[in-house]
Amino acid sequence: MKIVFATHNQNKLKELQQIIPEHIELVSLTDIGCDEEIVEDGKTIEENAAIKARYVYEKYGLVCFADDTGLCVDALNGEPGVLSARYAGPQKNANDNTQKLLNKLKDKSSRSAFFKTVIVYKSKTTEKYFTGICKGEILKAPSGSKGFGYDPVFRPLNYEHSFAEMSSTKKNKISHRGLATQKLLQFLKGL
Ligand code: IMP
Repeated sequence: MKIVFATHNQNKLKELQQIIPEHIELVSLTDIGCDEEIVEDGKTIEENAAIKARYVYEKYGLVCFADDTGLCVDALNGEPGVLSARYAGPQKNANDNTQKLLNKLKDKSSRSAFFKTVIVYKSKTTEKYFTGICKGEILKAPSGSKGFGYDPVFRPLNYEHSFAEMSSTKKNKISHRGLATQKLLQFLKGL
């Protein structure tokens, strides 16, 4: 059975190909020749993941899943949330985004936050949502050089180090994306 993972990111694709059940052939947007930009104009993380999964299913007639992630900060009413990738502008620069976040939090007493990943699976008969949440807090300054995005300023609850100071194996075990992916895998095993 062929399933499209709605991403061009070869690292994300390879990571999943290694753990997905053998009866599933996992392919990327690049593999199916989908190089048009899918406009992610949803108001929520759920909507953006669904927009991508529905687009591929409807245009290519292939079973598909898509993911979307956001960092939600309590003292900022859930910002940057669905805007996480382009918080500081369309250039989608991780350093700019992180600096903007740190500036906005300068005078706030609460720094609690959570990452949320939603994976939407779309087939002819099903539209299923798998959610992973990782709670933590935003550090006062970046720490660590591993990972990507907001990793240097996010410290998960009950851990001493930021995501950017953890190995990818350790991060994957507790991360929002890791947890959502585990749920998706359980579902795919039953197909
Ligand atoms: P995407 O939906 O996976 O493209 O994620 C949206 C944005 O959230 C990315 O551009 C990153 O800035 C940020 N992000 C997503 N996942 C993570 C993570 O695991 N750590 C840090 N930042 C992340």
